[in-house]
Amino acid sequence: GGFESLGLSPDVYRGVKRKGYRVPTPIQRKTMPLILSGADVVAMARTGSGKTAAFLVPMLERLRRHAPQSGPRALILSPTRDLALQTLKFAQDLGRFTDLNISLLVGGDSMESQFEELANSPDIIIATPGRLMHHLSEVDDMSLRTVEYVVFDEADSLFGMGFAEQLHKILVQLSENRQTLLFSATLPSALAEFAKAGLREPQLVRL
Ligand code: AMP
Repeated sequence: GGFESLGLSPDVYRGVKRKGYRVPTPIQRKTMPLILSGADVVAMARTGSGKTAAFLVPMLERLRRHAPQSGPRALILSPTRDLALQTLKFAQDLGRFTDLNISLLVGGDSMESQFEELANSPDIIIATPGRLMHHLSEVDDMSLRTVEYVVFDEADSLFGMGFAEQLHKILVQLSENRQTLLFSATLPSALAEFAKAGLREPQLVRL
């Protein structure tokens, strides 16, 4: 099956075509139908496999239209500022025919400019864990309860960089009724434990 067999809405499908993607990569072929069906997924995938689009395309399909009052509906956690920036660029490209708002919350940028972004009621937040926690502690009415779609990207790096405690704190602030995805090159035992705590009957995808 190609992208056309996924039943994507026209605006999302056009974004994929405009990005130049013709044939899904193996990880995309295996994960996207599962994610689109609503399942939690642990995907063993490394950079270069096309993993970013594997979680962005179903996210765009799920959100599709800007929802002004609802609070953030998707959260992507990245281990580094650079990866978060790259993910933002992919999301803007793939989502160019949608009207979704995306905010980037990473260290190194001013909190003030990020407060302003958050005031635009983003549909999607792409964040590093430290900066996200900082916002959650500074802003009383900031909540993750509205988030329906969560991605832990390069999860082994998230853990390797010492974010485990912050990730657990983020987990407890999320709604039970969410879809959770974990993408990782490796699955060390601490990460497997985290997946057990944070994901619901996850499908394991490996190449
Ligand atoms: P990633 O593993 O997400 O970092 O993606 C690696 C590279 O593959 C990026 O330059 C993507 O734009 C590209 N890519 C992802 N999916 C596809 C696809 N289906 N066809 C062609 N290129 C792709």
